[in-house]
Amino acid sequence: MDQEFEYRWCKFCMTKTKHEIIFVPKMATYKRKRQYKCTICGSKIWLQGRRPSAESVY
Ligand SMILES: [Zn+2]
Repeated sequence: MDQEFEYRWCKFCMTKTKHEIIFVPKMATYKRKRQYKCTICGSKIWLQGRRPSAESVY
């Protein structure tokens, strides 16, 4: 089992918490959304992956 975790902002915990990545699209580019689950409160959120660099996106 390869579990992936990232520290992301949780609006329910009001802090950065450890999030388990529960869904990664097949084409795992940074523009695709991933689903994270907060390991503290268990809420699921959709977020874009981190961009490698700052670029102008709409
Ligand atoms: Zn949380």
